[in-house]
Amino acid sequence: MTRQYRHFIDNDWQIHGSADVIERHSPATGELTAKFALGDATDLNAAVAAARAAFDHGPWPRMTAQERAAVLFRLADLIEANLELLASIEIAEVGKPRRFVEADVRTAAAFTRHAASMAAQVHGEAYNNLVPQKTAMVLRQPVGVAGIIVPWNFPIEILAKKVPFALASGCTAVVKPSELTSGSALEFARLAAEAGLPKGVLNIVTGTGSAVGEAMTLHPDVNMISFTGSSAVGQRIIRNSAETIKRVTLELGGKSANIVFGDANLEDAVEGTLKAIFAFQGQCCVAGSRLLLQHDIADAFLARLLERTAELRIGDPDDARTDIGSMISVPHLQKVMGYVGRARTSNSARLIVGGDQLRPAENLTDNFILPTIFDDVTPGSELFAEEVFGPVLAVSRFETVDEAINLANSTTYGLANTAWTSDLHTAMAASHRLNSGLVWVNTTLDGAPQLPFGGIKASGFGRELGNAGFEDFTELKTVILNAGRFDSVFPGAA
Ligand code: NAD
Repeated sequence: MTRQYRHFIDNDWQIHGSADVIERHSPATGELTAKFALGDATDLNAAVAAARAAFDHGPWPRMTAQERAAVLFRLADLIEANLELLASIEIAEVGKPRRFVEADVRTAAAFTRHAASMAAQVHGEAYNNLVPQKTAMVLRQPVGVAGIIVPWNFPIEILAKKVPFALASGCTAVVKPSELTSGSALEFARLAAEAGLPKGVLNIVTGTGSAVGEAMTLHPDVNMISFTGSSAVGQRIIRNSAETIKRVTLELGGKSANIVFGDANLEDAVEGTLKAIFAFQGQCCVAGSRLLLQHDIADAFLARLLERTAELRIGDPDDARTDIGSMISVPHLQKVMGYVGRARTSNSARLIVGGDQLRPAENLTDNFILPTIFDDVTPGSELFAEEVFGPVLAVSRFETVDEAINLANSTTYGLANTAWTSDLHTAMAASHRLNSGLVWVNTTLDGAPQLPFGGIKASGFGRELGNAGFEDFTELKTVILNAGRFDSVFPGAA
């Protein structure tokens, strides 16, 4: 079945600009799964006008925090009640295996619920320790209209890291989902309206980054941009936002190290390594795409990793047993295969498994890549340094804790790193000295709604989730109230 959508503006399905559509074919089966409106600046302007009016004059920012929370709690319930619809959309559009998609939808509901629970908890401060006649207040107020741009790899989950927190704070929002995977964002907005969100508070405009995204980042009535995507587009967003001096938060790419020390529980570390690089075909910003192994256990570890890799089931993402689904698109597959091809012919890496594209079954496309591992990857080489965003693991070896940490830190990125160890000192060294916004010890690709998520260096700035993720959608205003006389600084002649 092909679903066809318009933009979602003012709680209504609308088209303002071109009637052209984006056809989304399932990357796994090739079926035409959705048609999205190919938006342009006219659509974006209409959505921003709706969000601006809802913020400046509408009920949402003027409701009590409890009233906003009640709508978001209903939305979380509706997300769960519509799990099958949302999951089937993402399986078809994203090519991600069913059990991972179902987990993403549940996580989106959990994030929405957490944001709702924070609505009345995040507040300002009062200072009564100035001079007796003065009291100062630090008000925490919503930023205004939030422009939200999200990628294709976790469409509803990343949306839910941002939108409910923006809304809970009292902001209104305009969202541009990825042109490849817009279905769940449109359904999310429809469910939000059903939950009681007033019109204009959440608007979705579909289309390309170069048309809708650019117009959003340049729009004077958009107060902030919360972006998740590639570092290259992140740089462009910083430049564009300079025009109107917008607040920007950026969740960008990564090249995370997954470090296995000789004293680790190796079975756990093997399972963690599989998850870190092969969950969703390595198309994760936090993918543990560099495996750093301590020399003494490296060969035995790799032997076990190869055994477990061979057990992964590649196939139809709609099959609950499938571990590895399709790549997001043919151009992205070609980009990943380009990295694989160059590494194969270089003398800075040695292929030990995978490396090929495949068609797992007659009814599927050939948009799949075998789980791929390169050993003896030279630090500084392309495969060691660049974000491949595919099921391609680069293995390098080290002798000491210092060497492991230095290798892990020798990247422009700083999103997430993982250490597997049973030694407290090594765990502490990793926690303190790894340069990234997230460090996992004896777990990986882990998180919770109350924990901030985000990176440093080329992985961006700002945080999602946790108190920080809520506060990013707010502004501080310092108010000083004087109940006494004003002290003149110009006492005059007398
Ligand atoms: P992308 O940067 O190409 O696109 C992301 C979004 O930005 C899409 O909606 C796209 O249409 C839009 N966009 C493109 N050009 C734009 C422009 N000039 N102005 C405004 N918007 C524009 O990224 P992608 O290919 O969709 O996703 C993969 C990338 O996202 C990877 O680099 C990955 O690491 C990163 N990512 C990061 C996180 C994180 O939390 N740090 C999470 C997921 C993905």
